Formats: sequence, structure tokens, C-alpha cells
Amino acid sequence: MQALVVTPGAAATARLADVFEPRAAPGEVLLRPLEIGVCGTDAEICAGLFGSAPKGEGHLILGHELLAEVAADGGGFAAGDLVAATVRRSCRRCAACAAGFPDACLTGDYLERGITRLHGFASELACERPEHLVPIPRELGRLGVLAEPASVCARAIRHARSIGGRQPWEPARALVLGAGAVGMLATFFLRLEGLEVLTASREGAGSDKAELVGASGASYLPVSDLEESGDFDLVVEAAGSGELMARALGLLRRNGVACILGIDGHSGQVSVDRRTLGVDVVIGNRALFGSVNAARQDWARAVELLVEVGTRWPDAATRLVGLRVEPGRFQEAFDYTGVKATLRFA
Ligand SMILES: [Zn+2]
Ligand SMILES: [Zn+2]
Repeated sequence: MQALVVTPGAAATARLADVFEPRAAPGEVLLRPLEIGVCGTDAEICAGLFGSAPKGEGHLILGHELLAEVAADGGGFAAGDLVAATVRRSCRRCAACAAGFPDACLTGDYLERGITRLHGFASELACERPEHLVPIPRELGRLGVLAEPASVCARAIRHARSIGGRQPWEPARALVLGAGAVGMLATFFLRLEGLEVLTASREGAGSDKAELVGASGASYLPVSDLEESGDFDLVVEAAGSGELMARALGLLRRNGVACILGIDGHSGQVSVDRRTLGVDVVIGNRALFGSVNAARQDWARAVELLVEVGTRWPDAATRLVGLRVEPGRFQEAFDYTGVKATLRFA
């Protein structure tokens, strides 16, 4: 069967290759991937900067953002059911993983499908254990391919509410930095929760992304126009910019919470104003935290939120995935600068 593979650690090795068809082990469910979302993590793996192959193998099948159809009855699923799959797997030796929260793994020795020591789903067939599958309602359809980035947002919002909720807190105004898939989904989800949202990103005020932000009832601002306002209860950094991360604490109002979801692997210094850290953070009870991956409950919440987005903003929802190409055109998907591009396997 055809699969999108890379040689981890080497640059520009992504290719469609013929690989052995997987055989479902006892208890596993055979899946027919329909669509695979691609993101910056895939781009980093393709650049040889990240990712590792399963033990004893030289290649890694990409694809951690899955929408699949169940190919044969099993594990409580029926052929034809739509599913997504969680990404991270237990390290088998820490308390967080033992409790069912590999997203909070304490050792860092977890595995991740399509990223770290486990093949991904960018292939014509794949297998997974039923406990890692997430049912996608029919009504969500192809939008289900956004379940993975949506789960990352759902976790971030859950943690922000938990951290903010350590003291009386009624978040009303949110700032989202970045308008890629995570920033855009965070924008829509926070709007669903009734917050006033300002989303700031690199694109101009008349861009497609600005228009999509506006469709949710949020406001859009080119990030170059962002001022140090100290006006937000919640800041979500999804742009992957160390400079913006460093500014987040200064943008919060009293009791505000800032969450970093972007990755900035560049070396170098960013600076934070001494008074912001030494006075405002203390006097204002402000908090900054990072969040990665998602727990099972976040996947369930993500699917609920995506269904709500599709119901409330049907036109905008269909525009979230702006490019769907066949797997052989993977480079176009990697180069796409809109919200989300996917590879269409079936
Ligand atoms: Zn991703
Ligand atoms: Zn662990």
C-alpha cells in the first residue's frame, strides 16, 4: 500500500512509498484513513529536525491528524464509523501515564503516532486499539480531520480555566496570537464560550484569515499593530514566536492567564520588562503556562466544539480546511499558508 514516509533526521526525504499493509493484531481496529491534516510538526519532521522511526526501522510513516473510516467491525466499532485517534501513547512508567494522562507524561519517554517511534496514519490502511479511537459524529463529516488541533485547544482552555479558577475569575476578553489551525480554532471555541476575542496575526486586515476570524464574531488585528494594553483575561499564544510569548504577561489584566501553545525552537534571548515581572505579575496575580497534546476528555470536548462550530458558522467551518490534495501532492500541503491543508487518502 501507499504511505507518506520520511527518513527521520535527514532533510527533504518525504516521499510516497510502497509499504507492507498493516495486519490488525487481536483487539485492534482496522482503519481506512480518509484524510490526514498536516501541520508545522510534519514540516519539522520533513526538515529532519524532529521525529524518530519505530525501533529497528529506517523510515517513519507520517500523519498524526487522522480522520478515518473503520474498515471492519471490531472493538465496539462498526465498519463505516468515522473516527479520529489520539496521538500520544504511555511511557508505561510514570504516574501521569498510568492515570491515563500521557499528555502530562513525567518522563518524556512517551511515543507519538507519526512523530515519535510509532508510525502515523498517512497510509491507505492503519490499525489502532479501540481505546485510542475517538468517535466522529456523521454530522461533523470531513471537519473531523480537525479533531487533533481542536483537542490541543480544548486542553489549553480547560487548563486556563483551571488555573484562572484558583481564585475568583470571570474571563470576558481573550487575545489569540496566531491564526493557523490552533489559533483559529481557539478563536472560534472562545467565541462559543461567549468571550470577546481579539485575534492578532501576521496577515493584513483584509486577508482571508482576517475575514474568517471576523466570521466568528471576533476582531482581527495585524500583530504589528498590537499595543501593550494590559486588557485581557486570557492570552493564547499560537504563533510560535518567542517575542510574543515574552509579551504575553504584559498583555494580561488582573488575575489574567496566558497560555503558550506555539513552539519556537530558535536560540537567542527575548526580554521581559522588569516591572512587568516584578510588579504587575505579582500585584495582578497573573499566570503564564505552557500546554501540549491532549487528554482523552479534551478529544471528546474538541469534537463537541467542532460540531457546535459547524452548526453556528457552517460557511466559515467549511473554509477552515482550505486545501485538500491527493497524497502525492504533499509538498503543496506543506507549503500551504492558510489555516489547514490535508491529504486526501480516500
Ligand atoms: Zn499537527
Ligand atoms: Zn509517562
